[in-house]
Amino acid sequence: MIVARDAASLREAVGGWKAAGQRVALVPTMGYLHEGHLALVHRARELAPRVIATIFVNPTQFAPHEDLGRYPRDEAGDMAKLEAAGCDLLFAPPVEVVYPPGFSTAITMRGPAEDLEGVFRPQMFGGVALVCTRLFGLTGADVAVFGEKDWQQVMVVRQAVSDLALPIAIETVPTVRAEDGLALSSRNAYLGPEERRVARALHAALARAAERLRAGANSAEATAQAERELLEAGFRQVDYVALRREADFAPMEHGGEKGRLLAAAWLGQVRLIDNLPV
Ligand code: AMP
Repeated sequence: MIVARDAASLREAVGGWKAAGQRVALVPTMGYLHEGHLALVHRARELAPRVIATIFVNPTQFAPHEDLGRYPRDEAGDMAKLEAAGCDLLFAPPVEVVYPPGFSTAITMRGPAEDLEGVFRPQMFGGVALVCTRLFGLTGADVAVFGEKDWQQVMVVRQAVSDLALPIAIETVPTVRAEDGLALSSRNAYLGPEERRVARALHAALARAAERLRAGANSAEATAQAERELLEAGFRQVDYVALRREADFAPMEHGGEKGRLLAAAWLGQVRLIDNLPV
């Protein structure tokens, strides 16, 4: 596996592949990789003969009070996992390669970015769109693979790609979960043993709410019940449990059309998100 830290060595490797007519798939991550990330790498390998993974903890998507400084890192472990998964190139640049001195562009995302996560983390989706479009440009990838775990992020990235007419396809992979249902996440490393036991309630509450929606409950009832269950299970605060239409992220009052049930909730100092299809 090639390890590139700057734009020139990245371009050199990709240029060779493109000259040989090989398509390139990209898997952007913030590192501290788990089976969810590796599922994206496996999907990328099905989509293209060459796979690039990136590890970059993107400062522009964190607010000052958030966990940028303590975000978990294990580059040596990540490299071994990527190599075993058949990744061809790891792009792990320092901040000044992604945002060189004089960098002057910012992105404001509207539409699907203004709801849910965008309300609680207003800086996030502009930062995500900025780093993703920059990584698309630096790598020249033909397709990028994202996880359904961050459903709203996928909607926002698709919107940015469409709005900016970027020549890249966006593919998704279903959420990879632990045995008890908890969605794998690098941030799960922050959970203490007792919090980790409680954390399973997030998926369980969403699954029960999805069941109630299928049985005809309206979304206000189903999501309020899920919020109560989370608080009873030991979550400290629920930012939202909400039903959105998959096609355009519009609120839905009932199940029926293809929808997504999304939630964000705090367990101690750790904020977890998850979502399920309805
Ligand atoms: P992150 O490193 O958390 O920024 O995630 C990088 C990519 O991996 C994003 O596209 C995530 O949606 C995806 N991802 C994270 N966790 C999972 C999971 N449990 N299952 C599937 N994809 C995931």
